[in-house]
Amino acid sequence: MTHPALTHLAEEERLFRDSVLAFAKSQVAPKVGAMDHAGAIDTSLLAPLFELGVMGVEVPAEYGGAESSFMNAILAVEAMAEVDPSISVFIDVQNTLVNNCILRWGSAEQKQRYLPKMTREWVGSYALSEAGSGSDAFALATRGEQQGNEWVLNGRKLWITNAAESSLFIVFANVAPEQGYRGITAFLVERDSPGFSVGKKEDKLGIRASSTCELVLEDCRVPAANVLGEVGRGYKIAIETLNEGRIGIGAQMLGLAQGAFDFAMGYMAERKQFGKPIIEFQGMEFQYAQVATEIEAARLMVYNAARLKDAGQPFVKEAAMAKLFSSQVAERAASLCVEFLGGVGFTREYPVEKFFRDAKIGKIYEGTSNMQLGTIAKLLRTGASK
Ligand SMILES: Cc1cc2nc3c(=O)[nH]c(=O)nc-3n(C[C@H](O)[C@H](O)[C@H](O)COP(=O)(O)OP(=O)(O)OC[C@H]3O[C@@H](n4cnc5c(N)ncnc54)[C@H](O)[C@@H]3O)c2cc1C
Repeated sequence: MTHPALTHLAEEERLFRDSVLAFAKSQVAPKVGAMDHAGAIDTSLLAPLFELGVMGVEVPAEYGGAESSFMNAILAVEAMAEVDPSISVFIDVQNTLVNNCILRWGSAEQKQRYLPKMTREWVGSYALSEAGSGSDAFALATRGEQQGNEWVLNGRKLWITNAAESSLFIVFANVAPEQGYRGITAFLVERDSPGFSVGKKEDKLGIRASSTCELVLEDCRVPAANVLGEVGRGYKIAIETLNEGRIGIGAQMLGLAQGAFDFAMGYMAERKQFGKPIIEFQGMEFQYAQVATEIEAARLMVYNAARLKDAGQPFVKEAAMAKLFSSQVAERAASLCVEFLGGVGFTREYPVEKFFRDAKIGKIYEGTSNMQLGTIAKLLRTGASK
């Protein structure tokens, strides 16, 4: 079951990763093609995902979570991506962004109210981006105004992962635009809040089963108790959560590359041309040896960033490098795997063309490759990793 290269894991981590991969192969794999075609997650998978424990990996047991490490959350995201990068990002956002935010910045009362739901039945979304603010995230135009014991939010969010399935949204709004980014505040917004609705769903190139929707906030009323962290400190929540979330995207891209590669290796061993398996041609050997080497390097970078985070060490540069590199590796690996299969690689009968389409998003969300390069360069100049 375990990939032979996974010598970097402790026994408990290996077993956990194996259990997620086994679930992915038995429960998710049969649905992948149909979900991709439909552009929607098969909702019959949701309850089993919660039961598997991958929707609250780091959440303490007192709230129903697995009370495990960030590394294990990363391993779950990676293992799931070997089979379906859409289900992988579904659990990635839940763990590395939403639960992470509540665990780190939520009040005792907010944790008590939301975490038991997040580990048992509620899906979460993280809503920062807007039509006018992507890379320049702090230029967001959603506004919040306090009225008595409530906040009234107005604006539109774009590209929000999991929005079709989510019950809880972490929404970033500026409550004091005259103070620039120091007005940005994070709110816990429930799906049935007055004035809140989920809008248009995007029709995408890849990760098609993962929902990506607009959010509409029209005089959306949120109790004052639902401010996450402090008023005006949402920028810090956004930066720090995304620093960690990037390791998850690195893991998603790593799993994707491995999934495409494993399939292609099996195919090449079977497929014969000129009287022998194509895996034996030196022209093929040199290419797949290179791909395997790049996947191994990406794995070490992703695991290293996750371990640094778990150890409380500076990890921001390593996380940006892991995301940048893994998304490059995934795109190259998936592209070559299409070629390794020849004509059938180009068809929907075989899984690699989907991996190829799914790979593209790795260079875009949670900070484009240019933004990662900017972060890495800045940290190199200042000599810090944090
Ligand atoms: C499928 C999908 C899911 C997503 N999920 C979420 C989500 O759950 N929550 C959320 O908040 N957002 C989400 N996003 C939004 C995503 O994070 C943004 O798309 C991303 O940050 C890029 O922003 P943008 O699309 O506005 O591109 P832009 O910022 O307009 O960038 C366009 C190009 O310009 C380049 N560029 C921009 N500024 C600079 C600069 N200063 N230096 C050099 N190059 C620059 C970029 O690298 C890029 O190549 C999602 C997006 C997609 C496509």
